[in-house]
Amino acid sequence: MTRIMHRNLRHTPPVAVSASGIRITDSAGNSYIDASGGAAVSSLGHAHPAVLDAIRSQLDKVAYAHTSFFTTEVAEELAERLGRNAPGGDSEVYLVSGGSEAIETALKFARQYYLETGQPQRARFVARRQSYHGNTLCALGVGGNEWRRKPFAPLLPEVIRVSACYEYRGRSETQTRDQYTAMLLRELEAAILQAGPSHVIGFVAEPVVGATGGAIPPTPGYFRGVRALCDKYGILFIADEVMCGMGRCGTMYAIEQDGVEPDIVTVAKGLGAGYQPVGAVIVKRALVEQLRLRSGVFQHGHTYTGHPVAAAAALAVQKVLEQQDLLAQVQARGAYLQRALREALASHEFVGDVRGRGLLAGVELVEDRATRRPFPPSRKLHAAIKARALENGLMVYPMGGTIDGESGDHVLLAPPFIATEADLDEIVSRLVDAIDAAVCEPAGA
Ligand code: PLP
Repeated sequence: MTRIMHRNLRHTPPVAVSASGIRITDSAGNSYIDASGGAAVSSLGHAHPAVLDAIRSQLDKVAYAHTSFFTTEVAEELAERLGRNAPGGDSEVYLVSGGSEAIETALKFARQYYLETGQPQRARFVARRQSYHGNTLCALGVGGNEWRRKPFAPLLPEVIRVSACYEYRGRSETQTRDQYTAMLLRELEAAILQAGPSHVIGFVAEPVVGATGGAIPPTPGYFRGVRALCDKYGILFIADEVMCGMGRCGTMYAIEQDGVEPDIVTVAKGLGAGYQPVGAVIVKRALVEQLRLRSGVFQHGHTYTGHPVAAAAALAVQKVLEQQDLLAQVQARGAYLQRALREALASHEFVGDVRGRGLLAGVELVEDRATRRPFPPSRKLHAAIKARALENGLMVYPMGGTIDGESGDHVLLAPPFIATEADLDEIVSRLVDAIDAAVCEPAGA
């Protein structure tokens, strides 16, 4: 009997014993293709020698030094790189240990910014339905994943909620894309006005919606409209790139492709690529300057903030991305994966939509293509696909509740950037087999 409280308290997962490239092997000798990068984490694949070397050599220098006493060269170098090339321009960096911590940090920074700049009444965030920003209480609060929120609802902060930019479900047949986008922006503006613009701190969104929606990219112009509204009402735009950032979508930050500069960006997953638990909050320098001029402190901190070994791993990942020109590879392989998925699934009886950006891809399942009717939630199709895929040596990231937290199923793919075209063909082929097997199962099997 295990002493670990596993995610499913009634089930102990297989024991991973080795991992290399895009594959993980368990103690029974089964090998799995990691087509979801765990949860969109493992961008360089497993056991990359340059990252392992960087971690080892940092351990030999300084394994840990508390940031209330010291900084470290490695953390400084990482911050310099991230801050210099930030999508919001010249920025400063706060290093943390993961995505939820990054979001909590971003929310607190934004609140303190307004507190110190003479607008203490700004106390609420606007965020979207069908989003995920993490599992700690404030991150869960801004997130719009109803299933995850429900049990903890009484503990969560009140958030102003607007629609997701989810064209497949949200745009009516009579609307053009531009009309749909304009409708969403009108809704956002109305929500800000109703709350009172001077009471809003920030708008939080994933540029490409990850686990909750299944790789949903925005419509063209959506984020430009968001930026314009944030500027109009003095609201900060916080781009949550924990999943879609760090090259996953073919540019270092997904939001670059929307031509928009956020005020604050959160990253994690691909930052450490699984080699270390690490995240970062990247804040426009002009905002940090305001705090520097006033209180001189950001009232925050964790024991492992700026951990040197985590920073060493993240810095090595950054260097590998650059040296191996992996962003260009993500663009090429991302286009290849989208094409392969469309060829294999676009006319599949139970596939309603294939979407994504770069190597973040989503497949939405429907029981009826014409009406886009989802499978009944009780059928748990997503769980059946995950199980069938695993039996066939494939790790994918399916989820239910795609549409509203209850109904809808999708599969998220986030293969490592080093996956070859042959690997991607194999992934698509095994995924089609898993979907075919899962839809044939009797309900409740
Ligand atoms: N934000 C987004 C967009 C995410 O996808 C996630 C995790 O999936 C988080 C935040 C939370 O990150 P973590 O699980 O590292 O706390």
